[in-house]
Amino acid sequence: MSAQATDHYELFIGGKESPGSGGERREVLNPATNRPIATTALARPEDARHAMEAAETAFRTSWWATDDGGKRARVLLKLAGSIETHAEEFARLETLNMGKTLRESRGDVAFIVRTLEYVAGLADKIQGETIPVPGPRFDYTLREPLGVTVHIAPWNYPLLLALRSVGPALAAGNAVVLKPASLTPLTALRCARAAKEAGVPDGIFNVVVGNGSEVGEALVTDLRCRSVSFTGSGEVGLRIAELAARRVIPSTLELGGKSPVVVFPDADLDRAAKGIGFGIFGNAGQMCWAGSRLIVARSIHDELLGKVRAVAEGLRLGPGTEENADMGPLVSPDQLDRVVGFVTEARDSGATVVTGGAKVAEGPLREGNFLAPTVIDQLAPSARVVRDEVFGPVLSVLSFDSPEEAVKLANDTRYGLFASVWTKDLATAHTVSRQLEAGMVTVNEAPATFPQTPFGGYKESGLGFEQGLHVVESYTRRKNVLVNLGSAKPKR
Ligand code: NAD
Repeated sequence: MSAQATDHYELFIGGKESPGSGGERREVLNPATNRPIATTALARPEDARHAMEAAETAFRTSWWATDDGGKRARVLLKLAGSIETHAEEFARLETLNMGKTLRESRGDVAFIVRTLEYVAGLADKIQGETIPVPGPRFDYTLREPLGVTVHIAPWNYPLLLALRSVGPALAAGNAVVLKPASLTPLTALRCARAAKEAGVPDGIFNVVVGNGSEVGEALVTDLRCRSVSFTGSGEVGLRIAELAARRVIPSTLELGGKSPVVVFPDADLDRAAKGIGFGIFGNAGQMCWAGSRLIVARSIHDELLGKVRAVAEGLRLGPGTEENADMGPLVSPDQLDRVVGFVTEARDSGATVVTGGAKVAEGPLREGNFLAPTVIDQLAPSARVVRDEVFGPVLSVLSFDSPEEAVKLANDTRYGLFASVWTKDLATAHTVSRQLEAGMVTVNEAPATFPQTPFGGYKESGLGFEQGLHVVESYTRRKNVLVNLGSAKPKR
C-alpha cells in the first residue's frame, strides 16, 4: 500500500472517525520530495476536550478497567498480531511520512509488536501486597489504573514512541488520548483503527492531531487527565512538567541527549566504527540517544576517524522507500536548515569538516531534505555542535589522553540519556560504565534497547522511564486498605 495525495485521515475519538469541530485539514508531506502524501483532520482545543470526555466515559463504563487483566492481554495480543500481519503497510506509511528507510521502519514495527506482546504479558500480573500490622487488623494494597492518561509523541519514531507508553497504559487498564506530532500522524491514526478492530472498547484509545501549544496543552490541563507521558524536546518537556505539577499529576519525560561514545585504544576499531556509524547516522541522526560525541583516545584518533569516515562515505542516501537506501532524508526543510546551521557555525569557527556537511543540492534527491553523513573534528568542547542536540547525522569528535579525561569529557553535558564504551578490558568497561552519568550504557554495542530493558535519562534527558518490567505499574496508583477485624485477638 502507498499513501496517495488523496488519502485523508480523520481524528479518532470515541471509537469513531471525526473530522474535528472546525473541519480544518493539514497536508502531510513526504520528506524525500516535500510533496503531499495525505491530509489529516486538524483538531482544535474543543476536540481535545471531546477526546478526554470520550476517554473518561469509556474508562468509567466499559469493561476495560475493571475486568480480568487477562482479557485486556488477549486484546493487546490481537492488536500486536494485526500490526504484525500489516507490518509492511505500517512500515511503508511510516517511511513515506517520516523519511526513514524501510529497513528502519520494519525494525520499528517489529519493536512495537514485541512491546505489545510484552506488556500484554504483564496485564494480569498487576497486584498489590498484604502488610502485617499490629492488632486484629488486616492490611493490603491495591494497584488501580490511573484513569485517562495523555501521551504526547515526537516525529522521529512516530508509532514506536507513541505505543511505547500507550501500550503499558492500556495494559494497566487506563483509557488513553494520544497526540502524535503534527508532521507524522499517519501510523498512529492507522493504529487506532486497528485497536478498535482488535477489540479495544470505543473511547479507550483516542488520537487527536493538532498544534502542540493549543491541542497538547488542552489535553494536559484538562481536569480528566491523570498522567502525561511526553517524549520530545527539553523545552516543551519543561512546560509539560510545569503544567502537570500545577495539577499534581505525574509526568514521564523522555527528552533530548548528547550522548558520548568513548573508544579506548584496545577496542576492536572496525566494530567500533560500524557501531559509531549506526549510532549517529541511523534514522539520519534524528535519535534522542544518537551517539553524537565521539570521544576517542588520542593514540587511535587518526586510525578510528579514517574508519568512521569510510563508514559515512559508504552510506547510500535515498528515499526511504527505495530498498537499497541506507539513510533517508531529514524530516523537514526546517530541520535540515537547523542541522546545516550547526555545521556552518562549526566550520566558520575553525573546526574541520572531515566529510559531509552539505545539503544534497543536485540530482533527483535535491527536492528532499537530504544531508550527507557528517563528521566534524578539531572541535573545542565548548563548541555549540558539541554541547547542543543537533538531531541530525552530525558526529562531533573530541580526543582524550587518560581514562579520567575521557569520563570528564563524556559527563560534561547537561544531558544524560545514553553513553557507550568500546574496550576489550573488563575492568575498564565496568568501571567507566559506572562513572558515566547516563540512564543507559552499552559496552561494545551501538545504541540498543528491548521492551524488557528500562529506557530513561539522567539530568536534563528526562524523568521516569519507559519499558522494562515495572513500566505497567507506573501507569497505576497504589491504594492501601486497612480492615479492623474486631476487638477479639486472632487465635491460631
Ligand atoms: P517537540 O518537543 O517539538 O514536540 C513533541 C510533541 O510535543 C509533539 O507532538 C508536539 O506537537 C507536542 N508539543 C509541542 N508543544 C507542546 C505544548 N506546549 N504542550 C503540549 N504538547 C506540545 O519535539 P520533536 O521536535 O517532535 O522531537 C524531537 C525531540 O524529541 C528531540 O529533542 C529528541 O531528543 C526528543 N526525543 C526524546 C526521546 C527519548 O526517549 N528520550 C525519544 C525521541 C525523541
